[in-house]
Amino acid sequence: MKTFVTVTCRVGFLLVALGGMSAAQKLAITMDDLPLNGLLPPGVTREETAKNVLEILKKRHTPPVYGFINAKKLEGNADGAEALKLWAAAEPVGNHTYGHMDLEQNTAEAFEREIEENEPALELLQTTDNWHWLRYPFLHEGDTAEKRRAVRAYLKVHGYRIAQVTLDWEDYLWNTAYARCAAKNDAQAIAWLRSSYLSTASEFLDLGREQAKLIYGHDINYVLLLHLGAFSSAILPEALDLLKKKGFKLVTLEEAESDAAYDGDPDVGLHDAGTLLDQWMQVKQIKDPEHAEKPYKELDSICQ
Ligand SMILES: [Zn+2]
Repeated sequence: MKTFVTVTCRVGFLLVALGGMSAAQKLAITMDDLPLNGLLPPGVTREETAKNVLEILKKRHTPPVYGFINAKKLEGNADGAEALKLWAAAEPVGNHTYGHMDLEQNTAEAFEREIEENEPALELLQTTDNWHWLRYPFLHEGDTAEKRRAVRAYLKVHGYRIAQVTLDWEDYLWNTAYARCAAKNDAQAIAWLRSSYLSTASEFLDLGREQAKLIYGHDINYVLLLHLGAFSSAILPEALDLLKKKGFKLVTLEEAESDAAYDGDPDVGLHDAGTLLDQWMQVKQIKDPEHAEKPYKELDSICQ
């Protein structure tokens, strides 16, 4: 009897261990709007903002994190240039168009010129051609099917891959709010920014996974969208803890997008449709599972 119990326990332990292994969901972190998203508190530089985030990534041994850049932000901005140099020395960079152009407000040709205009900075920052990844500003892939197809055809010819997004909690909303609250030294408001950020992140991580199951019938490898800004280094350690607690295993963008889910294209014109999963939900007319909304109003008014 004793032997039987021991064996059962061992098998049980093994199953739990294996179950835990298979449940680890692959996720690539990406950061947009380099060298900076939103405002900074007075006296804080872009360079130290980037440095602080890079230190956390290094300490946590995260796989390479792509930073998507808008070179227009460097015009006459030495601090921004220093921030980008630091980033590119430690992590890869990708194309986010020269001036963060909205494809819904512009033609495919104008958008393609913006991709090209961003390239000299990418070439300077990264000597390999690993920067041939495009992250669409606002995740806008085209409000007409023609536009969408034209830009995708351009990307293909020019050797680009699309850096898709499948998990997003609009973290940028907290950057400028934090800059204001830090300027006022409002500890209570900052505590709320932390708690609301983490609860929103948790809610939208769960929502993305539920969407994937509704669309593909199973979990996929995910690509998470973050933005480099004032709040990034303050909240990143806790955000990384949250990802770990939820069973995500960090991987590179290349590995995440090796999942066949990233070969699919909704191939229709969409207006402000969000992540690739949001797009498919809309195209397939699947209703989003119940979820809490983001605290847009509170973030807008806090510390004003
Ligand atoms: Zn952006």
